Amino acid sequence: MKVLKFGGTSVGSAARMKDVVKLVVNDEPKIVVLSAMSGTTNTLVEIGNLLSKNKQAEAVAKIEEMEAKYNAVMDELYSSAAVKAKAIAAIKENFSFMKTFVVKAFNIYQERALLAQGELMSTAMFQFLLEEQGVNSVLLPALNFMKITKDEEPDLAYIKEHIAKELKKYGGVDLFITQGFICRNTFGEIDNLKRGGSDYTASIVGYAINSSEIQIWTDIDGMHNNDPRMVGETRPVAQLSFDEAAELAYFGAKILHPQSILPAKLANIPVKLLNTMDPTAKGTTITEESGKGEAIKAVAAKDGITAIKIKSARMLLAYGFLRSVFEVFERYRTPIDMITTSEVAVSLTIDDNAHLTEIVKELEAFGTVEVDKDQTIICLVGDMISEEGEMAMKLFTALKEVPLRMISYGGSRHNISVLTNAENKVKALQKINEGLFGLKGAKAAQKV
Ligand code: ADP
Ligand code: ASP
Ligand code: MG
Repeated sequence: MKVLKFGGTSVGSAARMKDVVKLVVNDEPKIVVLSAMSGTTNTLVEIGNLLSKNKQAEAVAKIEEMEAKYNAVMDELYSSAAVKAKAIAAIKENFSFMKTFVVKAFNIYQERALLAQGELMSTAMFQFLLEEQGVNSVLLPALNFMKITKDEEPDLAYIKEHIAKELKKYGGVDLFITQGFICRNTFGEIDNLKRGGSDYTASIVGYAINSSEIQIWTDIDGMHNNDPRMVGETRPVAQLSFDEAAELAYFGAKILHPQSILPAKLANIPVKLLNTMDPTAKGTTITEESGKGEAIKAVAAKDGITAIKIKSARMLLAYGFLRSVFEVFERYRTPIDMITTSEVAVSLTIDDNAHLTEIVKELEAFGTVEVDKDQTIICLVGDMISEEGEMAMKLFTALKEVPLRMISYGGSRHNISVLTNAENKVKALQKINEGLFGLKGAKAAQKV
């Protein structure tokens, strides 16, 4: 059985949903994971923010605006009057439910339930479309099997057991539809896998059913060598290893949720990144193999990084110093991304500032502490070893005009990362595009 995930743009209009039907209705058994229609989760976040600020009237206006949009989509989506009426009545319930959150003491549980409505609506609408076309499919509620632990990690054993139970109910059915992104937490409450989480759902479901392949269908023909939103020209990467793809996803390549490669890697399931707008394009294949071809694969950038430097004479010739430093981060459950050390100082980066004040306070016991916020990690991925130093030389030549705060090389054979101030990000990506990939750096001036 395969798992196919379609992102927001791929289900973003009536026409797009109909295209997805064409891609999923064939003899191959599959589970189809859908995101919310594009823009929906952002709007739900905005509605949640308005409710948190007690701006009920504005929230209601936004809910109603969204409802009108959904009604227009459904009007175009279905040709049978009976199915259309059923679908509109079903989605009306989602909107009525959202309106029950328009209260003074809007809380986090309501916010999570609100965010879940996007995927609940897109999958319901899609299932009605399949029903109208006489396709034998079943809508599997993700909330019946997707679960996260108290550490917010997917509960893989639970998911495996419960998805098997769900599937067993429907002998003879080959097409299942389910929601991406949403899950239950350890208390049974509605929760989610964080923004962009539908990719993660697909990979977790793939793992749980031991799928033969996971396909991530989106609006671009695979992982590109650079962020197409930042640079003038990019090209797709044909093949990536799980580790290379995971690194790119973690360090900012938006096409994949940061954690979404791990479950596929655990079960050694090939992942394909494919384009709904151009279904015959080759896209990117992600497997154990890095593949031949270009040694330098791609670059990604992760924003919102904080650099922390601890300077201490006590570090000189001492052992146990780094352990004490790391223990501080462990106590506050704050992961470290990059680290560089010298005899008298250690610099490291984090992307979660929730406990920054407490961490800095504890680190001050070791020496002087400097904190730089608003940093960006630029991560170059490829086979660094085969290039024998060429790669580093090319990278630093390309970045000669970009001030670098930290450099990490040798942590793994397929990555070099540098840290720079966020304001240098676009320039760095563009210079790398020119110097390492031989592609256009700057974006063409936008025509007005
Ligand atoms: P979906 O809604 O299908 O999940 P996303 O918007 O989350 O789609 O991801 C696809 C987008 O990721 C692309 O449209 C592109 O702008 C952006 N992107 C950023 N970096 C890359 C990259 N290296 N390769 C491909 N796409 C990228
Ligand atoms: N709808 C969710 C989001 O916009 C999940 C996803 O699209 O992957 O973040
Ligand atoms: Mg996405």
